Amino acid sequence: MLELPFEPPTQPLHHAAFAQAGIQVLVKREDLIHPFISGNKWRKLKYVLHDAKQQQKSTLISFGGAYSNHLAALACAGAMYGFKTCAFIRGEEVHNYVLQLCKSYGMQLQFVSREQYLHKEKLYQSIATPNTYFIDEGGKGILAQKGCEEIRYTVSEITHIVCAIGTGTTFAGIAKTATAKGIMAEGICVLKGAESINEEIKQSIGHSNNWHVHHQFHEGGYAKTTPELWQLIDETAASTGILFDQVYTAKMLKATITLAQQGYFAQGSKVLLIHTGGLLGLLSR
Ligand SMILES: *Cc1c(COP(=O)(O)O)cnc(C)c1O
Repeated sequence: MLELPFEPPTQPLHHAAFAQAGIQVLVKREDLIHPFISGNKWRKLKYVLHDAKQQQKSTLISFGGAYSNHLAALACAGAMYGFKTCAFIRGEEVHNYVLQLCKSYGMQLQFVSREQYLHKEKLYQSIATPNTYFIDEGGKGILAQKGCEEIRYTVSEITHIVCAIGTGTTFAGIAKTATAKGIMAEGICVLKGAESINEEIKQSIGHSNNWHVHHQFHEGGYAKTTPELWQLIDETAASTGILFDQVYTAKMLKATITLAQQGYFAQGSKVLLIHTGGLLGLLSR
């Protein structure tokens, strides 16, 4: 179940700031895994779906905002592997292309107030049966982390790995594998004021060596954008053919450029960016 269709390629990414800093930057194209179960969402769902199947559950229940990449991925993966899916959506009823996609894949949507949304366990219990399976917001959790630990490097002599952070599950998995190989893991947090995530990540990885979370690159907060960010997205797409999304991966790229300009990476460093996908989000522009 959710075996990788192919090992996504790694390709070089050129930018004047990287050349100036004397570093090499590469991108692991996890975004190419699937159009909707893209990047880290494939990795995060692999063992979760496996667990649900083993427990002979028939319905997966999860949570998210109206533009959740996680819910789109879950709806699609659920349909592929014979699960019913159901989601609690935060806020009043809206229609958009992400939710339409979820519905096309058969996901049942239930809109709940922001107040109700805070109590996920209670919402889950309100419709739970012996056949239902709970999947936390953003798919976060230990099984999801296990899937992310499997992100492979197809190039050698990497010195740093960079990845965007939402819940931190993907970064924890990546950092666990990287630090065991002596590679520095750099997390770029896309949420504002989320410093408490460091402690959660430390618990998940089991140590605080050789990884660092950067909290100054959120560009104003979750899903907030700036003209500079859009400019970087367009310039990079036009000059390399690689799209980065405005919520996660473009912030990771912008952070890497800024860190390079600030001399954060020693000359000769080989930096691997993990493209975690999320390109569906670009359609909201
Ligand atoms: C969901 C998502 C993330 C965040 O992953 P976490 O494990 O929640 O930190 C990063 N990038 C993209 C493109 C995503 O869709």
